[in-house]
Amino acid sequence: MGTDNDAPQAPRLPARRASGRDDHTGHDRPAKVAAPSSGPSFITLPPLALYVHLPWCLRKCPYCDFNSHEARGEVPEDAYVAALLRDLELALPKVWGRRVVSVFLGGGTPSLFSAAAIDRLLAGIRARLPLVPGAEVTLEANPGTFERQKFADYFAAGVNRLSLGIQSFDAAKLRALGRVHDGDEARRAAEAALMIFGNVNLDLMYALPEQTVDEALGDLAVALSFSPPHLSCYHLTLEPNTLFFKAPPPLPDEDTSADIEGAVQATLSRAGYSHYETSAYARPGYPCQHNLNYWQFGDYLGIGAGAHSKLSYADRIERELRWKQPKQYLAKLAADDPLQEAHAVTRDEIGFEFMLNALRLTAGVPAAGFGERTGYSLALVARPLRMAIDKGLLEADPLVLKPTPLGRRFLNDLLELFLPASPARRRPAPTRIHLDATGTGR
Ligand code: SF4
Repeated sequence: MGTDNDAPQAPRLPARRASGRDDHTGHDRPAKVAAPSSGPSFITLPPLALYVHLPWCLRKCPYCDFNSHEARGEVPEDAYVAALLRDLELALPKVWGRRVVSVFLGGGTPSLFSAAAIDRLLAGIRARLPLVPGAEVTLEANPGTFERQKFADYFAAGVNRLSLGIQSFDAAKLRALGRVHDGDEARRAAEAALMIFGNVNLDLMYALPEQTVDEALGDLAVALSFSPPHLSCYHLTLEPNTLFFKAPPPLPDEDTSADIEGAVQATLSRAGYSHYETSAYARPGYPCQHNLNYWQFGDYLGIGAGAHSKLSYADRIERELRWKQPKQYLAKLAADDPLQEAHAVTRDEIGFEFMLNALRLTAGVPAAGFGERTGYSLALVARPLRMAIDKGLLEADPLVLKPTPLGRRFLNDLLELFLPASPARRRPAPTRIHLDATGTGR
């Protein structure tokens, strides 16, 4: 959906290798994972979240680089829900005894699925995996698939948070973005979502084609008129492998974009929203628990086409990727073969991967969180930490890992300090995980 899944704009860092398959374990089941030479050691495991990817959309948006596919004809929801539950069953031995702190149904456009299918899916998840009481259960929805009754039925099925991919309320901007909904649909969907769920995120994008500061603030004013507990505001970026990348629309120049960004941030601050992460704003008590778990380097099991997982064990951290193409995923699941890739995170990679997430948080994370979530001593990153402090990018506080205002502004420069020394050993971290606030993932 929009940008919710889309990924908080993943920091663009240089010299990351294109998706490598060097640790690819291909068709083995379960995937064989080479253990790193000197691994982590965990006394307690991080909290575990569940991400479920529903990959179809009505139409592919020209700026979207997510694993989303145009639904040509009916979405095979029965077969897909069955495959998801089989996927989960196959993964259960990896998470025995652990409870799930949050569930996120992202896409794609999950609201293309009927409420009955979502009900079966959530019931199947609960029957297989214990959720903590009151666990946040988010579903991403597109105003273009909005029906009031469907929203009510999602709520009855156990969805307790809705993330709505609005992007803009302006008809011309929505057309320029290739969105399937118009401003009125967006308003009606937002109003119904707030009434039914209460806990709602609205996704907005700014620096849209030919957008002025006033137009961006106009969009924001409409969003704020609904008093949503959470807003995800993203700068439109041109991602490789998108239509916009090949044929860029007339975007605002850098100065205008910066003015828009500043005006958006100031307006949200005045309206009482905490800017708790690069692209995420929340009223007190409403930060997205699922995304916080990503940013705090928690674990997540991702099921569904192209979903990423990060799972910790007593002596290692593993990352997994499910088969990306929906048809292929369905076929592979029929043979109980869900994984396209799997690898153990190495000692070299872990510092960067942790910081890539944690330093997106305005408040940072406790310094002790590094050891708790990576299984390594903070001494592993002593050198880049020192450099970051010396450059004024990180607070000189031994108790917290927190970017300074300068570090937030130049987040890429800050993160670059933590990149593995040898380019040959750099592996692309799945930064575009699905965040509501990406999210890259999304
Ligand atoms: S931006 Fe959202 S709605 Fe558009 S194609 Fe991507 S996932 Fe689908």
